[in-house]
Amino acid sequence: MLEKAKVYFGSIQQGQMARFASFAAKVDIITEKLIEEIKIEKKDKVAIKMHLGFRDGYQTIPVFFVRRIVEKIKKTGAYPFITDNPTSVYNAVNRGYTEYTCGCPIIPISGVKDGYVKEKKIDFLNVDSLSMAGALEDADVLVDLSHVKGHGACGFGGAIKNIALGGYSGPTRWKKIHGVNYAYAMYDPDKLTTELAKKLVAECPYHALSYNEEKHELRRNYHDCHQCMRCLEIDQGLGAVKLPREAYSAFQEMMAIAANEVLKSFDKEKVFFMNFLLDITTYCDCLGMGQAPIVNDIGVLGSTDIIAIETASLDLIKKEGLIEKNIPPYIKHVDLTTPDLHPFTRVHGPYKDPYETVQFGEKMDMGTSSYELIEILSPSETMKMEAPKRTFEDEPTFF
Ligand code: SF4
Repeated sequence: MLEKAKVYFGSIQQGQMARFASFAAKVDIITEKLIEEIKIEKKDKVAIKMHLGFRDGYQTIPVFFVRRIVEKIKKTGAYPFITDNPTSVYNAVNRGYTEYTCGCPIIPISGVKDGYVKEKKIDFLNVDSLSMAGALEDADVLVDLSHVKGHGACGFGGAIKNIALGGYSGPTRWKKIHGVNYAYAMYDPDKLTTELAKKLVAECPYHALSYNEEKHELRRNYHDCHQCMRCLEIDQGLGAVKLPREAYSAFQEMMAIAANEVLKSFDKEKVFFMNFLLDITTYCDCLGMGQAPIVNDIGVLGSTDIIAIETASLDLIKKEGLIEKNIPPYIKHVDLTTPDLHPFTRVHGPYKDPYETVQFGEKMDMGTSSYELIEILSPSETMKMEAPKRTFEDEPTFF
């Protein structure tokens, strides 16, 4: 029988009002366990890949936890640095991330001009190469530190998305990885009339369709498409516009391929993953704005297996279910009735199954979806523990 991968879990819920039972204590223990399980050596350069957010987004991983993780890595004698795309790094201070607050340098992942990259040859549909970020290529150890949330293009953003999209230069991220959907034709130029194209654009409830009349080109923004099928209704079987299911899967497979390329540049024993299931929003942090959480806070997960941690994250979110009143009012096609649908599929549409990327990854031997969830300081366990005398303002105190 295949061995199950270990996934540590710290619930946001605590068994009693005491620091030893708190969420921070669980994050600390999980970090220590993961550091012990991998081979961090003195002077290793440790890339902590995060998404530091954009503009007005404030729901990325709190600097409070980032600093604690950084400090624990520093105790090993290694040199951690936080890294993300150059734009997010440049204005990270606006969201509270600085060298002073995080405890280590923050470095643009692909250089200050987004050109410090290593080309990776691949052969997938319309993509033949990816420009991987140079800072990842240089690092000895990878800590993939992810905020888990929904994602417009594939339903889910976690550890895979953090390195698949975040581990590459801007042109690779936006044009190649996000452009893979266009490997499949989504309209027939001979059947499409200008009049029909304009009607399709006008009636897409999510403004996901655009038309270039000069080039006679119809384009779908797959990120924004909720598969409401309105365009197919207008088409009435003519075949002028299509909704190719494979185009949606192509993005999921592309994500797994891109993440795998990043992981292949590290020794397997020098990588760990932490997923924070807090502020679980509809869309990812790239949108650069705050969003109402659509799933309650769950906690933190840690593992050395990317497929196991992603599967466990999705399973816990599925079990938790949607906070229906927080679903954005502009999303009008939310399936709340079909049994067994994942909350992210309910919100993002039937062709955006968040498990798909993980399944592609498992087929590529990136890890296993068979996992053992090991809860750290569970509420039932800490409820039985004896609490020390509580102090409100301990040393140093100015009280
Ligand atoms: S399926 Fe709906 S959301 Fe998607 S492009 Fe067609 S009309 Fe727009």
